[in-house]
Amino acid sequence: MLHLQHLIRICSARLSYVADDRLVIHMEITFWGVRGSFPVSSPHCARYGGNTPCIEVNAQDTCVIVDAGTGICSLGKRLVEQGQKEIHLLISHTHWDHIHGFPHFAPLCESDVTIHLYALANANASLKDILCGQQQEPFFPNALDSVNADLHFTDLSEGQRWNIGPIDVQCRRLNHASYTGGFRLESVGKTFSYLSDLDLYGPRLHGEGMNTGTEDEIEQKRIGLQQNALELARDADLMVFDSFFLTEEYKDDWGHSKMEDALRLGAESNARRIAFFHHAPGRSDDQLDELVAHYSTEVHRDADLIAATEGDQVVL
Ligand SMILES: [Zn+2]
Ligand SMILES: [Zn+2]
Repeated sequence: MLHLQHLIRICSARLSYVADDRLVIHMEITFWGVRGSFPVSSPHCARYGGNTPCIEVNAQDTCVIVDAGTGICSLGKRLVEQGQKEIHLLISHTHWDHIHGFPHFAPLCESDVTIHLYALANANASLKDILCGQQQEPFFPNALDSVNADLHFTDLSEGQRWNIGPIDVQCRRLNHASYTGGFRLESVGKTFSYLSDLDLYGPRLHGEGMNTGTEDEIEQKRIGLQQNALELARDADLMVFDSFFLTEEYKDDWGHSKMEDALRLGAESNARRIAFFHHAPGRSDDQLDELVAHYSTEVHRDADLIAATEGDQVVL
């Protein structure tokens, strides 16, 4: 005899199949790069991985990539092999560790591929100009203007919401240098939140223009930035968070958060799974194992804690 819960699961899966005429009804999150600051190749990070930030999000046939650290190099090869013609790339900000895999992104060489790139607008230069700058001599031999793929750039406004296929995307500014955005992706009733590179509860504001105005105005900005993070993470099924520092390592002028901050935001936002992310280059696999075990006891009830691991996939 079928149990009721089992029956409901079958029915809801079938309904999704009929309504969408597709087999994939989940959101799949794959980690291609999880390390912060610079890539590391060393036995101490062989299990969690040494590539810089890159995450693939799939919902139905739509492929969204978040950040273009060195993890995007392996992902690019696979996308070419599977014949992916439409790619959407969200860039949190243009610090090197989030874009330095992009010149080596294999789909750039494909003339029948369209790549849509999005980032929070920088007041001083467009996303296109910044990426072109990275790919010019004497830094790199192949100019971005000469790639085969069709590129479309979008400079996002604060709080902008838009749709990429079946995925509803939102971008909000975070407390980090220059112009840094976090993202919230919602689809099929699931939510993935990406908050890498921010100092959420620290005493300083790091972004351009954040420290102008009266003390009261600056305090209002601080509250607004914390609210941004909370809104991005609210009720997330998976929240990826900048856990660069241990408490004793924390530096208030770096623009990064601590592991405790991930737990605090996870509790405030009711996130169901929290992933430590943007691991410090020197953080060893064994240390991460111990830290996850240690902090798991402090995570609010009904939530899971993991450390993001290169190659792992989370299905929401
Ligand atoms: Zn970074
Ligand atoms: Zn950064």
